[in-house]
Amino acid sequence: MRGFAMIGPNETGFIEKDDPEMGPRDALVKPLAVAPCTSDIHTVYENAIGPRHNMILGHEACGEIVAVGDEVKDFKVGDKVLVPAVTPDWSKLESQAGYASHSGGMLAGWKFSNFKDGVFATRFHVNDADGNLAHLPLGMDPGEACMLSDMIPTGLHADEMANVQYGDTVAVIGIGPVGLMALRGAVLHGAGRIFAVGSRPKTIEVAKEYGATDIIDYHQGDIADQILKLTDNQGVDKVLIAGGDTEHTFDQAARMTKPGGAISNVAYLNGNDVLKIKAADWGVGMSNITIDGGLMPGGRLRMEKLASLITNGRLDPSLMITHKFYGFEKIPDALELMHNKPADLIKPVVYC
Ligand code: NDP
Ligand code: ZN
Repeated sequence: MRGFAMIGPNETGFIEKDDPEMGPRDALVKPLAVAPCTSDIHTVYENAIGPRHNMILGHEACGEIVAVGDEVKDFKVGDKVLVPAVTPDWSKLESQAGYASHSGGMLAGWKFSNFKDGVFATRFHVNDADGNLAHLPLGMDPGEACMLSDMIPTGLHADEMANVQYGDTVAVIGIGPVGLMALRGAVLHGAGRIFAVGSRPKTIEVAKEYGATDIIDYHQGDIADQILKLTDNQGVDKVLIAGGDTEHTFDQAARMTKPGGAISNVAYLNGNDVLKIKAADWGVGMSNITIDGGLMPGGRLRMEKLASLITNGRLDPSLMITHKFYGFEKIPDALELMHNKPADLIKPVVYC
């Protein structure tokens, strides 16, 4: 098979490998569409999870099954499928404890382009096909289906972790595709006022379409100061972090959160950084503000449920897709676009 890989830190290229080996409960899938992710950029260019060598990149895809193991019951060759970025081992104790994304160890449910070759390949391997794949809903565009791999489940996970409630005032820090989905999730959870923090005009336009009530530009001063001023110093109930920096963002989040509120993070931080929160901003340790961070839950049930948000018109993923490429060979162009983040970019997809 052919794949677009991280050759080593800061270096990418196409490589050839043998087709992946398949167990009795697994599947091999060929991509119909793939999408690069900011996480691919953190991995290749920022050494965020340590060096990977000749590891095929990519974890966002929609595909067609080319082979299934003998014990796979619900999928057959030729089926078109949604593929989650996180494909847990459902029998592990972490899964039984409710943290399937960490099945087998910290982040170990995230296998593609982390522990094994990813989806930017002519063939890719999916463990536990019955537990992790979902049928592509009839008529769903494969490019839009790629948003179900990671952007939608990750963004919505921020709302789940923070337990966004009817009428909550919410701040979403970062309105790239992940933050936009956190924002849309807040709307679906019944939030009232929603502050969206970002600066690029295209993301601001789409944030408003998804339901942001206030836009905060982090270039215009400290975002906690701006939000406190706009809320008569009350702050917000929930802060959802999908961007920013490790130096300031968590402290700002603590400072703008009401006592008893919640902060949830889905941004992929650099492993070498240290998070800073001034104790006073966290009620000198007694604020009752919870801070959580999570990797998107994976698996089939969640994919099927989240797909129903699209098929029933609750969430329109097409607003996020600003750039379309055609042909497997265009994957490097799409990844480079993600690397450079031009002003008009939210999310590129590649139809294979
Ligand atoms: P983007 O780079 O597209 O978006 C980042 C956002 O953060 C932009 O809106 C940007 O504003 C904003 N931002 C940048 N600097 C600051 C700052 N100092 N203060 C406040 N806001 C700031 O990223 P994505 O949406 O693609 O991804 C977001 C994060 O989620 C990434 O770290 C990604 O790796 C991670 N991720 C996590 C997953 C999980 O399971 N937990 C899965 C997938 C992704 P602007 O550009 O408008 O100036
Ligand atoms: Zn991703």
